[in-house]
This record gives sequence, structure tokens and C-alpha cells, in this order.
Amino acid sequence: MEIILSIIIFVMGLCFGSFVNMLTYRIALRYDLISNFQFSKSNKNRSFCDYCGRQLKWYENIPVISWMIQKGKTRCCREKLPVLYPIVEIATGLLFLIFNFQFSIFNQLLNFQLITQFFVGLVIIVFLVFSAVFDLKYMILPDFSTITLVFSALVLWFLGHFGDWTYMWSAVGSFLFLGFLYLITNKKGMGFGDVKLAIFMGLFLGYPKIIIAFYIAFVVGALVSLILIIFKKAGKKTPIPFGPFLILGSFMAWFWGGWLISLSAFQIFR
Ligand SMILES: [Zn+2]
Repeated sequence: MEIILSIIIFVMGLCFGSFVNMLTYRIALRYDLISNFQFSKSNKNRSFCDYCGRQLKWYENIPVISWMIQKGKTRCCREKLPVLYPIVEIATGLLFLIFNFQFSIFNQLLNFQLITQFFVGLVIIVFLVFSAVFDLKYMILPDFSTITLVFSALVLWFLGHFGDWTYMWSAVGSFLFLGFLYLITNKKGMGFGDVKLAIFMGLFLGYPKIIIAFYIAFVVGALVSLILIIFKKAGKKTPIPFGPFLILGSFMAWFWGGWLISLSAFQIFR
């Protein structure tokens, strides 16, 4: 039974990953980050080809599998479909699966509060993946996504930690911390979108997990920047989005924060 449920959760994750890809494309159109005049002619409620606007058949819209069968190209106009599409789908599927393992609620299927927390958790995964992908591609963390995340974190706080004000303080603290860095780096180190995302991180993770999240974000961010500079993929002035690193840190602190804190290096934050 649990295996079947895990498979369902994974497939759900793949489908939501596909939704993230579609949302990324449509929000980019709305922000005029990409142009596609064909889009105005196509049926906006159905999935359409990114390039020629033709409505997709159901079998062209299966997460991962369609991409593999079509060898990374559209069927209609043979344009290249980004490899990021299946990667996002698989990543979302795996995140759903890890979340399911970490917070296995299926022993308590009748507990309304746990079910609500579980579904809000899934919403948080979807919007974190969306924000990471959008920031990676366009260097913007859309406000509607951050607002959804903050609202979801508030719901979880009401359900799970109501009255525990350390979450509020860690939200304020995170906002001030990144806001301070934003100002002293002359707005070049990170964008204001990152500062707003920090409100969600603090409220969602609380103290001391928020410390783990920032630690991972800064260390991994610095390492990746260094590697990109060494391999000449980026110069010292090439902007690198910070959002994906904050989001990676959030996921790791969320899923494994308790274990990471127990490691000796983090003992002082207990
Ligand atoms: Zn096409």
C-alpha cells in the first residue's frame, strides 16, 4: 500500500513539475521576457507548443516521457525543447517523494490537520521550484510566488506552531539580515526579491533551521560562483541569481535540518 501511495505521490510531483514549466513560460510571456505573437491566437486554457502555438495532443504532454520519445524536440516544428523541462519534472517528483518519506502521514489518513499540513507542504514545494526555475532563467523572483509561499507558511504556523513567536522573529531577522546585505553590497550581491523570500524562509523554517538554510545558501552559492569563474563560464561581474541557492538551503534545512543541527559544527545554535 505504501509503495503504491509513494508512486502516486511521485507521479503527482512529475505532473506538478510540468505545471511549473508551463507557469514559468506563461509568466515570462506576461512579463514580456520572451515574445511569442502566436500565443495570442492559441487557446490559452490548453497546453500549446512553445514555438508555433499549436495545441498539444495529450500524448505530447506526458511529463518526462514525451520529452524522451520526441528526443527533446517538438513534434510539430522540430524545435528544441529545453532539457530543463524533464529535469524540473523529475526534481519536483523527487521532492514530493522525499517530503512524503520525511513526513509520512499515511498512517494517520483521517487526521484533518495533518492532511492539511501535507497539502500545504506540497504547495510550498511547487512554488519553491517555480521561483528557483524562474530566477535561474530570468533573474526575477515573482512576487505572487513569494506571497503564496509566505501565506502557506502562515497557514502551517497556525496549524503547527501557533503562539510560538520565534518563527515571527526569525522572519523579521532574516528580512533584516538579507536587507542589510542587499544595501551594503550596493544591490549587486542579491536582488530585493531575495530579501522578500527571506521573510518566507524565516517564517517557514524558524530558528535554528533558518541558520542552516542561510549557511547552505552562502556556501553552495560561493562554491558554484567560484567554479563558474574558474571554468570561465562567468566573469566576476556576471550576475548569478541567488534565489536558487536560498531555495536549495530551504529545502535542505526543511528536510534534514534536525539532523544537520545535530552535527557538531552547528551545535552552538542549539
Ligand atoms: Zn510547434
